[in-house]
Amino acid sequence: MSTLSTPAAPLDILAIAAHRDDVEQTCGGTLLKMAQRGQRTGILDLTQGEMGTRGTAEDRAREAAEAAKILRVSWRHALDIPDGRVENTWENKLKVAHVIREQRPRVVILPYWEGRHPDHYTASTLGYEACFLAGLAKLDVSVARAPSPANSEEPPAPLTAGRRQDAGATKLPPHRPFKIIYATLYYDVRPTFVVDITELFEMRFQALMAYKSQFSDQEAGKDLFPAQTEIRARIEAMARFYGLLGGVTYAEPFLQKEVGLVEDLTLIPVKSI
Ligand SMILES: [Zn+2]
Repeated sequence: MSTLSTPAAPLDILAIAAHRDDVEQTCGGTLLKMAQRGQRTGILDLTQGEMGTRGTAEDRAREAAEAAKILRVSWRHALDIPDGRVENTWENKLKVAHVIREQRPRVVILPYWEGRHPDHYTASTLGYEACFLAGLAKLDVSVARAPSPANSEEPPAPLTAGRRQDAGATKLPPHRPFKIIYATLYYDVRPTFVVDITELFEMRFQALMAYKSQFSDQEAGKDLFPAQTEIRARIEAMARFYGLLGGVTYAEPFLQKEVGLVEDLTLIPVKSI
């Protein structure tokens, strides 16, 4: 008899990002849209935000849980990779591969592989290689499972419901996501497709504003952080721009490395002329 605990249902979509609030900015509307369609979505933040100019890692954990509720994600977790030092090491790859095996997503959303912030582009390569490793049947990723004590603050239920961090006694079967797509919002690159988030724009903005320690108007980091009205204007401008490319009001941009596969030419969306 196996001692395997009953696994939670696999995630349909897992978004992986370097920092808490990255997903809210780059693909939060898409996650919410998928959740509204009945898909199980999840977010893996690689770091906990201890280097932020504003607020503490604890503040950000609370805010991340609040944002997750707004985006209706089924699962969210932050790894203990140091903030500002996301490195593509073997140990970090195993940590992410462990999560891939545990949550078994069909689709993984990664940050685009170029950008200004080293944590962002490193998270992209790290995430990709972890997805590959997670599928290697003979690779034991359990060495990476132990979360640090600082990582034990968890978002409140029901977010923890699907989490089985302590899989130590069991060996997780290999899993490789079917699809990897890249959220390109942080980088000026032409997306291969956009997701219409017109109906979800307000909710996504609320999810971002859940990070009160970051985005409320305050003294600390005043020169570094724009005022809230300016943040809204910028976010709206970006969503409008990508919406325009897809012929809708607001959209989020993505890139896939593979070519598109078409069955019926008359059903290809987005007007040419
Ligand atoms: Zn970030």
